[in-house]
Amino acid sequence: MDIQWFPGHMTKARRQIEAKLKLIDIAIELLDARIPLSSRNPLVDEILLHKPRLIVLNKSDLADAQATKAWINYFANQGHTCIAVDSNSGHNVNQIAIQSKIILRDWFERQISRGINPRAMRALIVGIPNVGKSTLINKLAGRKIALTGDRPGVTKGQQWIKVTGGELELLDTPGILWPKFEDQTVGYRLAVTGAIKEEVLHIDDIAFYAVKDMIKKYWSTLADRYQLKSPPDNVEDPEEIVKIMEQIGRVRGCVISGGQIDFDKTSSVILRDFRAGKLGNITLELPDENVIITTKDDLN
Ligand code: GDP
Repeated sequence: MDIQWFPGHMTKARRQIEAKLKLIDIAIELLDARIPLSSRNPLVDEILLHKPRLIVLNKSDLADAQATKAWINYFANQGHTCIAVDSNSGHNVNQIAIQSKIILRDWFERQISRGINPRAMRALIVGIPNVGKSTLINKLAGRKIALTGDRPGVTKGQQWIKVTGGELELLDTPGILWPKFEDQTVGYRLAVTGAIKEEVLHIDDIAFYAVKDMIKKYWSTLADRYQLKSPPDNVEDPEEIVKIMEQIGRVRGCVISGGQIDFDKTSSVILRDFRAGKLGNITLELPDENVIITTKDDLN
């Protein structure tokens, strides 16, 4: 991620999106299915205000399907239509136009009642860096779109990309929003998924947090992958988490001379496995944190 989110940049990003909102009928808010709340811009409701909106949980191929269902219900309870997609493979992306049409039903009917032939729906994809905006635009367009980045005078140089046989038109430059920063947990979750750079937070801390989350929610998956025998008695005790990380490091051969564990290497193995989906389908936060998923059977 190249963007440094200083207050001035946030203001600029907000203005750019607000200018684009004038051009469109519906906003497509892209979230990471593994961290739907942590990947949400804190002011998104304020920024999108009265715009019709479709919430899209991206990277659902990496998320836990049961948790994704719970998130879809969570957003539905807040009055939003929410769908899950995988922009890499294209799974379910056809639902974007279908659901947008349902959301914009009144808009269509108004035009028809006035004797106007409805034009294509115009949409803007918005989301934080790395959530998959460009991947989704390319998938919907069916080709690689050269994203030119934002220029002053947003209406200039922007193209409409026709998708789904011309029913939907997409602005070729997405709306880039900043993530939440205030909350440490959010920061670590963003880092675990790779949404913010490792240099910002220490890799050992990021992996520590990932292991802690996984012990709580996906112990058996973690135990299977790294041949762990028993979960810690107290997951809130940092020393016990460190002991689990040591066991992982040993199993994966992350040992330096003298038999000590190389924590940086262990951490990087854990994060690589997580991001590549090798630890299975994992969602790091649930709408109701009391719903704790402990066994693989719970996921089915
Ligand atoms: P942007 O900054 O929001 O435009 O994000 P990108 O489109 O550049 O995507 C960031 C990373 O996420 C890239 O490595 C993509 O390949 C990956 N990615 C995007 N969508 C998906 C998805 O649905 N599933 C998976 N597994 N990876 C995805």
